Amino acid sequence: EQEKKFRMREAHRIVTELYHEVLIQTEAGDAGRIYLENRGIREGAMREFRLGYAPDQDRFTVDSLARRGFDLDEMVEAGLISIGRDGDYRDRFNGRVVFPISDRDGTIVGFSGRSIDGRDPKYVNTAETPLFNKSELLFGFAQARGAMRKIKQVVLVEGNLDVVRVAQAGIPYTVASLGTALTPVHAQNLARIVDEVIICYDGDKAGRAATLKALQLLEAVAVDCSVIRLPDGEDPDSFIGNQGEETFLHWIEQERVSSLEFKSFYFRQGKNLRLEGERVRYIETMLEEIGRTSNPLLRDIYLGKLSEEFKLSKDSLIAQVRPTVQQPKREQIVSDRPAALPTAPPDRT
Ligand code: ATP
Ligand code: MN
Ligand code: MN
Ligand code: MN
Repeated sequence: EQEKKFRMREAHRIVTELYHEVLIQTEAGDAGRIYLENRGIREGAMREFRLGYAPDQDRFTVDSLARRGFDLDEMVEAGLISIGRDGDYRDRFNGRVVFPISDRDGTIVGFSGRSIDGRDPKYVNTAETPLFNKSELLFGFAQARGAMRKIKQVVLVEGNLDVVRVAQAGIPYTVASLGTALTPVHAQNLARIVDEVIICYDGDKAGRAATLKALQLLEAVAVDCSVIRLPDGEDPDSFIGNQGEETFLHWIEQERVSSLEFKSFYFRQGKNLRLEGERVRYIETMLEEIGRTSNPLLRDIYLGKLSEEFKLSKDSLIAQVRPTVQQPKREQIVSDRPAALPTAPPDRT
């Protein structure tokens, strides 16, 4: 079993280099290279992320692996090739630009293939295999690791192209989950490395809902979060394409909001706060979220905002915040005394 995994990793390494060489050095890779160039990807990033192009042939990968003595059934199991309707082996990512996905150590364990000619589906990703567990892997993690450790921050985006584009713009500590929602395992792995997660998902309904979910997961592992809300209809990649890298970097600085501010925006959407019922529900939801917040200053700021906006006494709001139990931060020493009520103002005991 261990040897099988070893062979599968070796096959991924070889196929990655083949696709990369095709993209960078051969005429067969022109279509892929032109596609990536048109999408604003420069050669440095193509090399850094080991991007590739899988020639649009039925058996390019099949033959390359067979020639090197790999067992083709094992390669199907590894997700590198597939079996066609005729029962014969065939390529899986053919005609696509390929993004290699590596595990934490930088060992490539799968691919995400983007179609370049409008053919469906837009993305073909490696399915679950003995090496590839998408609920644990993040695209860009290996490339981002060093910078994440140093800066103690990570920018979380939705798509592979967003990662490459944002890294290219000068933020190398950027990762994406693989076309799925963030999972508790992702959250844990990030919390081990960084102090703050900056969520920059797509500026659409799905992206906003995914942001809320991600915040809740990340708060459960006690990592600080902030959110960048992109203009409607933009994702990081399209934003950089339309407005340039400089503007994006500024946007990240200027438009970054706390997790509570994002929630305040999110829970207001589509509500008419002049109606008493909706107003009360909004306030209750916010009080709940304030209770979940581990930063006492932020809690105080938002209680103040609620009290001002809705003309409610801060004391009565404080009385209604039920602090939800927070997991201790990694560095904090676990005390067996119950934590002080986080919202108690300093003039009371
Ligand atoms: P592009 O800019 O190339 O259109 P995107 O990243 O903006 O891609 P989204 O539709 O925002 O695409 O999807 C975000 C991520 O979800 C993608 O990067 C990809 O990993 C995944 N994804 C999107 N569509 C599919 C699909 N049809 N099958 C599998 N995964 C997909
Ligand atoms: Mn999206
Ligand atoms: Mn997108
Ligand atoms: Mn996009």
